Amino acid sequence: MNDQQLLRYSRHILLDELDIAGQEKLLAAHALIIGAGGLGSPAAFYLASAGIGKITLVDDDTVDLTNLQRQILHTTERVGQPKVASGKATLQQINPEIEIVALKERVSGARLNELVASASIVLDCSDNFATRHAVNRACVAHRVPLVSGAAVRFDGQISVFDARRDAPCYACLFPEEQQFDEVNCGTMGVFAPLVGIIGSMQAAEALKLVADIGEALAGRLLLLDARNMEWSSIKIVRNPACSVCGHAHK
Ligand SMILES: [Zn+2]
Repeated sequence: MNDQQLLRYSRHILLDELDIAGQEKLLAAHALIIGAGGLGSPAAFYLASAGIGKITLVDDDTVDLTNLQRQILHTTERVGQPKVASGKATLQQINPEIEIVALKERVSGARLNELVASASIVLDCSDNFATRHAVNRACVAHRVPLVSGAAVRFDGQISVFDARRDAPCYACLFPEEQQFDEVNCGTMGVFAPLVGIIGSMQAAEALKLVADIGEALAGRLLLLDARNMEWSSIKIVRNPACSVCGHAHK
């Protein structure tokens, strides 16, 4: 690290758990963020400011006026621009030293696999089950830890799925073959700071995983009821019959 970096990251380096070695791990890492909306915004803000060396932002959408109430990467004057371009512009202003790759696409299949395989950590900040399951499959296949968040109305949830360990995957919790009601932020109400809370926690878990600090939120699902600001924690166990990870560890 040069002098400028030592200053920029000094409050991280002062943490015993992080120190210079931990900060260097962050600088060497590649985070893949799926979705540059409500959750992806705060998550990307903190990963960029904290010095994750390379961030790939993936989103096929453009900035809409209805996004601005909660998607803090974007600005009024960028309405109509691709979200990833808007996000990249914001993140480079915060930290010009890191690399930001902006992909305006809906990734799936081989393309998604390739991106996940190149990442140290994946943050699922998407808003639909199809994407969440595809991202989970790729993370299990390539043994890349996944930080998954969701938020709608006043309800948020977050967990970590770490296929490097004997831990459950997203499909152990929400089986692919099961039908869930799609609760889409695109049409439902969302309390603005809720996505800030959950997205910031996703960033925290991602940074901890990369720098190898403390215990990750693996095997637990945290649920937030923001109406009453109450958290609950549910233990998640691996499903031996899981269609995604059931045979992966045999
Ligand atoms: Zn599983």
